[in-house]
Order: sequence, then structure tokens, then C-alpha cells
Amino acid sequence: MMQLDSLRVIVVGGAIGGSTTALLLAKAGAHVTLLERIAHPRAVGAGIAIAANGMAVLEGLGLGPALADAPLVRNGRIVDGNGRALLEPMTAMPPVRMLRRATLAAVLLDAIAAEPRIEARFGSEVLAVHPEGRVRVRHAQGETELQADLIIAADGAHSVVRESLDFGARVSEGIAYVRALVPAGLAREEEAWTSAGIFGSFAVDAATYLYASAGTPALQAAVAARDLDAFRQAWSSAYPAAQPLLAALARWDDLLLHRVVQVHCARWSVGRVTLLGDAAHAMAPNLGQGANSAMVDAAILVDALRSFQNVPAALVAYEKRRRPAVTRVATTSSRLGALADATAPRARWLRDRVLMPVLRMLPAKRAVRDVLQEQPEILRRAAALS
Ligand SMILES: Cc1cc2nc3c(=O)[nH]c(=O)nc-3n(C[C@H](O)[C@H](O)[C@H](O)COP(=O)(O)OP(=O)(O)OC[C@H]3O[C@@H](n4cnc5c(N)ncnc54)[C@H](O)[C@@H]3O)c2cc1C
Repeated sequence: MMQLDSLRVIVVGGAIGGSTTALLLAKAGAHVTLLERIAHPRAVGAGIAIAANGMAVLEGLGLGPALADAPLVRNGRIVDGNGRALLEPMTAMPPVRMLRRATLAAVLLDAIAAEPRIEARFGSEVLAVHPEGRVRVRHAQGETELQADLIIAADGAHSVVRESLDFGARVSEGIAYVRALVPAGLAREEEAWTSAGIFGSFAVDAATYLYASAGTPALQAAVAARDLDAFRQAWSSAYPAAQPLLAALARWDDLLLHRVVQVHCARWSVGRVTLLGDAAHAMAPNLGQGANSAMVDAAILVDALRSFQNVPAALVAYEKRRRPAVTRVATTSSRLGALADATAPRARWLRDRVLMPVLRMLPAKRAVRDVLQEQPEILRRAAALS
């Protein structure tokens, strides 16, 4: 068993994955330096679905009460463009909490500010890392080099840390999605699989979160021209229910545009440097498991650091436990995305009339276990123990 109170850790990236990791490590006694390139992290992003696995980690950290007001989705369903149900709620699926990203970010940043074992350095951009634990950092005053026993890179899908060492990474880009927050009361609590791709709308705390594909030629053209009317028009003909939601947008800049990035690495650790969250395994968003998986990574990594004799052994155990589970989820999410975003009429007919009735009959228990990757109770206990 390693004593974490003598461990100096640098965490690169202060979003969901990095913040959760820093908090768990500090709770376990380690000295943490958190490096985040954004000087004043603030409310960014639209909404996010936090599933039972991610929620268990947050609850283990004592952050459950601060998030308890966010709506729970129990009856989410998948419909076609005319609102006909393709898949009714899978009752075995545990409810998902829908949050504004800004709410989650504020809760995590407040917890970091209150944790004396975390030295958070905002406005600090990591330029390169060395397998022996050295980190080159640029900040307002110039550049410095830091040294740690362990570097955890949670710097996202375009990770600089990953690029500076040989993790055998493959990065691919896919379809673009837009996301937005519009006033409360407009959510349909459904995801529509339509001739223009996916459109979802769910209530979050005091707002409605909407997301939509931007993959068809008409939608791509609207995005390229930043033409909100053309975007509204393309969506309203594919999914009339989108109309009031898109009408609530005042200007193009109310939409956040995000291209899906998928990352596969041959290895997650090189020397004293390890990857976590999107830096290790960015995935298609269709199962809503990217950020949840980052939090599961954090809980399992800190548990491994506590349970093994030294850092190298803990990193081997972390990757051994996480890689198969997360690969399964990423593969399923990517397949689901391809299915949901199919826009060719014949492919949609086959999906809606042949495949979905079969899917409806499959036992959901195994699928739920695979999506959540770890039992929430184990994650809650691991996070609470840290
Ligand atoms: C359309 C869409 C919808 C999604 N919906 C969901 C959902 O409902 N549920 C879910 O679980 N996931 C969802 N995801 C996935 C989720 O957003 C990501 O998996 C998650 O945000 C990854 O978190 P992270 O902390 O690993 O990385 P990021 O969120 O990318 O954070 C990386 C951090 O590192 C910082 N950074 C980057 N480079 C450096 C550097 N060189 N030095 C210092 N700091 C640096 C960045 O500023 C940032 O703060 C969705 C994704 C998309 C595209």
C-alpha cells in the first residue's frame, strides 16, 4: 500500500476529469498541483448528462447535495422525426441527472478552492512533459519547469501531453454537433433520430438543453455561413418539434459547435506520465459517457495508487482495469452514433422498422452494466475513501 501523503502529483487540465482527479488525490493525502491553461475558467458549455457512475464519484466526494436540484431523466425516449416512438425508456437504465455544464464546473472549482492540498495554477499552459516527471509550463510571467512523482494528463481530446510522448495515439474526427441552452419549459425529453440526424432536448437546472447534428449538406452549409435561419429551416422540416426550441435562439453565437473527436491510444502510461479522460479515450457522445468515464478513470486511478506499492504498479493496474471497459463503451457509442445519425432513407427505414424492434427485445441488464463500466456503489466507496 502506497502512502499518498508523500506523493507529489501534477494534474494537467482542470475540467471535469482533471478537477475530479485532483480532488480525489488531495482527499487521499497527496500534494497536487493543478495546471489549467485557462486563466479564469468560467461558465462554458451547454448541458451534460451525468449518469449513475459519474454521479457516484461526485457523491463520494461529498458533492451530491450541491447537484441534487438538477432534473433526473427517467423516461427519456427515442423518436423519429414525426415523434413516433422508436425506443421507449429502458426501465432497467438508472436515471441520468441533467446539468448545466456551468453548474458542474462551479461546484468542482469551489471544491478545489476549498482544498488546501491542491495548488491550482490557472493561466498555466503545459508545453511538454518528460517521462521522468518534468513539466514545461508557460504562464503570464514566462516559462518554468516543474517536477513531480506522477503526471496525470487530463488535457482533453487534443492533449499536448499525449502528443509530447509516444502513447501510440490515433485521433479521428467525425460529425459536428451544435449545443445550446434556451429558456426552461421547452424540453421535449426525447432524442429524435431524423432525416437530418439527431436532435435532443432535455430540461436542465432552470433552462432547456438542446443538441443537434450538423452533418447533412444543408446543415453543413448553414454552419459554414453561420446562417441561423437556414439552420432553423433545415431542422424544422426534418423534425417540426425543433421549431420552438430553435426559435428561442437570438443569434448564431448562442450555438456552440463541437466536432466529435475519437482517440485510441496503444498505451496510457509512459514512465511517470499517464493519461485520463478524453486525453486517453475521447469517444462519440451518443451514450453520454465521455465525462462520466473520465470520473470513473479518476476514481479507479486513485484507488490503484492507494492499493499498490509504487507508481508504476498502480499505473499498470489502472490501465488494465479501465482500458477494456472504456473501449467497450467507446465502440458501442460510436456504433450508436452511426445508427442514430444515419440520414439515407433506406438505412433509416431498415433501422426504424427492422433493427429497433429487435433492439427493444434485448435484455437491458448487460447493456447497462457495460455502459456504467463499474458498479456505482464501488465507485462511491472508492471516492469516499480517498
Ligand atoms: C456534443 C457532445 C455532447 C456530450 N455530452 C456528454 C454527456 O452528456 N455526458 C458525458 O459524460 N459526456 C459528454 N460529452 C463528452 C464530454 O464533454 C467529454 O468527454 C469531457 O468533457 C472530457 O473531459 P476531460 O476533463 O477529459 O477533458 P476536457 O473537458 O477537454 O478538458 C481539458 C482541460 O484541459 C485544459 N488544457 C488543455 N490543454 C492544456 C495545456 N496544454 N495545459 C493546461 N491545460 C490544458 C483545457 O483548457 C480544459 O480545461 C459530450 C461531448 C460532446 C462533443
